[in-house]
Parts: sequence; structure tokens; C-alpha cells
Amino acid sequence: MATARLFIDLDAIAANWRALDRMSAATTQTGAVVKADAYGTGAGRVSRALARAGARRFFVAAAEEGAAVRAVLGHGPQINVFSGHMAGDTDLIRDLDLTPMLNSIDQIMRHVETLPGHPFGIQLDTGMNRLGLEMPEWEAVAGMVLELGPELIMSHLACADEPDHAMNEAQLAEFHAMTDGCGVPRSLSATGGILLGERYHFDLTRPGIGLYGCRPFDSGRNPLQLSLPVVQVREVAADEVVGYAASWRAEGPSYVATVSAGYADGLLRALSGQATLWAGKVPCPLIGRVSMDLITVDISHLETVPDTLDIIGPYQSADDLADIAGTIGYEMLTSLGQRYHRQYEGEGA
Ligand SMILES: *Cc1c(COP(=O)(O)O)cnc(C)c1O
Repeated sequence: MATARLFIDLDAIAANWRALDRMSAATTQTGAVVKADAYGTGAGRVSRALARAGARRFFVAAAEEGAAVRAVLGHGPQINVFSGHMAGDTDLIRDLDLTPMLNSIDQIMRHVETLPGHPFGIQLDTGMNRLGLEMPEWEAVAGMVLELGPELIMSHLACADEPDHAMNEAQLAEFHAMTDGCGVPRSLSATGGILLGERYHFDLTRPGIGLYGCRPFDSGRNPLQLSLPVVQVREVAADEVVGYAASWRAEGPSYVATVSAGYADGLLRALSGQATLWAGKVPCPLIGRVSMDLITVDISHLETVPDTLDIIGPYQSADDLADIAGTIGYEMLTSLGQRYHRQYEGEGA
């Protein structure tokens, strides 16, 4: 089989959720963000594992993403939609019992006209200028909206991964000014905000990236192992070249393994000549260009030819790969692609 295996440890993801949950007071609920197919790890399986761990509120980006989550959760747990109630979403929101996080006056009007009485939440903009009502708009409609009984009022921090950034305090103050005394459960923090401390926690937190083992939640467990099958091994003589653009040249006689996975699988081309693969504990340098479906690796120093080489695992996390490629763990994870055979491990598997 030439498809690589992405092992996903559901126990590690559940343990990360519990660890983040313990960081806030018992009165603060901990949600779970499973948008973008749970950051590439599989929204259905991950949501089920997190529900078993105790999560009761889930967040997706678009209403369509709610289907896979509702299918495994059944009735009960709340599924909130960050993009709110878009034109064309009404049937999905009703049929899947989604809770749109309304982000504009237009969306509020659409929601109360098409689904009167259906649960909703409100998003406020506290300075990020991305989603949500701003102070003057909120002041104009808050009385009417609060009477309709929103489930949740939330905002989002722009710089929570930089604890000393002045935006954090400024957004916190704005959120207080907009919501103090509203009598509705409030949420401000994703993973980064949880780490900023209790003043940022309010009634509900919304961790995403920390569940999947990436920064800024440094004490989280890495739930992923990505094992690439060795398709062929060849002996390369001194001065022979390997791969596109002939960008690697053997200094001496070498053994080169060709492994199955490439930039079509999210192993960004920027990793060319930079990343390391692992035969168990033994590092093996990625040589030459990453191509669409294949990577070449120098295994001259190995005593036996391995069946697989790992590019994510105990010695190299998604964050490490992201650093090499000049991006962030979020992008690495959500780029992983559909070609991998996702294999779930742990009690929830
Ligand atoms: C993606 C997202 C989250 C989760 O953020 P992480 O940094 O992954 O924890 C929370 N809230 C909103 C509004 C988001 O878009």
C-alpha cells in the first residue's frame, strides 16, 4: 500500500482537552473547536472522543461542517457556527440543530425572520476587525437581542499567543464594556487566551490548536504520527543527482529511499532539503526537492531498509515541521490532505 498512515491518538487529544479544562475554574465550561475537519485530524472521530471526555459545546466554521459532528454526537451537545447564519444556511441550521454565532445586524435579521425561536449566539468585535458587531451597532440592538435570549456572547483575541501584547488587555476591557451585566454566558478565549489566565476565561473557553498538540499549549501531548511507506531504495554513486532540478548531489556512494507522500499531501515544498525523517529514533535527512507524491531520503547510515519513515512523531512535531517550512502548526495540520489513511488509536478509537 502506497498511501501513508496518519496515526491519531484520540486519548492524547482527550488528555489535552482535560488539561486545558483544568486550567480554568470549575464554573468555566470548556468547549472544543473542531472546524476544518478537526484541524485535519477528522471531525467525527475527534468529536466523539471529546464528547466522551466531557465536552458539550463544539465549534465549526461553516454550517456544512456541522453535519459530520452532529452525526456522531446525536442530539444534545451544542454545535456553534462561527460564520453565523449565512443566506442558504437556514435548512442546515434547523435540521442539524446548529447554533449560529450571528456576527452582523443583517444576520440577526435573517435569523429572527427565517428561524424565530431557534437558538443563536452573538459575536462582538473587540478590536480584531474580522467578525462581529462593533460597539455602536451592538448598542443599537443589544436591548432587542438580549430579550430574544442568546445562548452565548463571544469575541476573539487577535494576539493571545503573545502574552505581553497590549491588544490582549485592550480587547478584554472592550469585551467587559460591551457585555458586563448582560446576563448571558460569555466567551473570549481560544487556546492562547486560556493560557493568559482566569481574567480571560469568562463562562466558556474555545480551545482548538491546543487539543491537537501545537503551540501555544506547550505542555500538550502530540497526538500525531505520520508514517510514509518506502516505495523504492536505490544505490547512488558519487556525483549522481537526485530529484527535480537535480538539486541534491551525492558526495559519496549513498542509499536513497523514495517515500510516498509529497506536497499534495501537505508536506510543503518549502521542506525541500530541510526536513528530517525518522527511522525509529534514527534521523534521516530529506534530500532534494519535495515533489507532488514523493520525497527522497538519505538512508546511507541505516543498517536495514525500513518499511516506513516518520515525518511527524515523537521526535518531530507539526510545529517543528512548520518552523522548517516557515509557517505555523495550524497550517501544517490543516494542509495534511485527504490521501492519508487515518488510523485512530486510544480508548475512543
Ligand atoms: C479557530 C478559532 C478558535 C480556536 O482557536 P485556537 O487558537 O485554535 O485555539 C476559537 N475561536 C474562534 C472564533 C476561532 O476562529
